[in-house]
Amino acid sequence: MDLHTHSTASDGILSPELLVSRAVARGVTLLALTDHDTQAGWPAARAAAQAAALDLVPGVELSATWRGRGVHIVGLGQDPDHPVLVQALAALSQVRSERGLAIARALARAGLSGEQDILREALAEADGAALGRPHFARALVRLGKVKSVNLAFKRYLGAGKPGDVKQPFPTLEQAVALIGQAGGVAVLAHPNKYKLTRTKLRELLTDFCAAGGAALEVISGRQLATETAELCNLAGDFGLSAALGSDFHQPDQPWQELGAAGELPGQLVPVWTLPALARWHNLQ
Ligand code: MN
Ligand code: MN
Ligand code: MN
Repeated sequence: MDLHTHSTASDGILSPELLVSRAVARGVTLLALTDHDTQAGWPAARAAAQAAALDLVPGVELSATWRGRGVHIVGLGQDPDHPVLVQALAALSQVRSERGLAIARALARAGLSGEQDILREALAEADGAALGRPHFARALVRLGKVKSVNLAFKRYLGAGKPGDVKQPFPTLEQAVALIGQAGGVAVLAHPNKYKLTRTKLRELLTDFCAAGGAALEVISGRQLATETAELCNLAGDFGLSAALGSDFHQPDQPWQELGAAGELPGQLVPVWTLPALARWHNLQ
């Protein structure tokens, strides 16, 4: 199972079609495409999955804010054509392109290259997808300003760096409500990536549950068994179903390879057994 993946519709390297064929080749039996703030890859992924007889669940990864921090809410099993969701994602895409211009400006001000050069390279990297920081990171590599995407984040795009331009994202409550309105299940993605203390993480989960959140991503890519055990305990404490995914973006990162999240430990309710997801696949 892999319920957290990205394609070229956001900041992934593979087209939706190639993502599906890689998932099949890697032995994935249930896949969700969860691009950042867009479902643009869904029609192509769905057609490819149908041709390959792979079970595919619609998904999306919404950027949201909680107490001034960024958190990611994955929606799974929603109706991709739900008008409220479609409209909200269109508005987010507008906000994202404005933010792209602001990032290009900020990187130019930091002395990296001309604003237009940076923007042109980032747009080429995005290839029609909504601009995100990874596109700018790859643009800086292409322009010879840094040796790697990781360094680009470390020096110019990561938290507190010049290219870390804030975007007015929806709140946690708004993101969870939006997914619910569209008939999906809201999942708190990669809870350990937010670098929260245990107390803060519990507060986040309290708010997430109060908003209508229903599942926790207990495995994100390859992680320590102790980490999985802790997250499973948390899911149990809060009565949340369990989700898992690789957060796949590109083939050269083995820790985020498709299917790398492995198997869900037995004691929790798997998110794919919830009705919102079960209607999209044939598994029991
Ligand atoms: Mn990403
Ligand atoms: Mn994320
Ligand atoms: Mn992701």
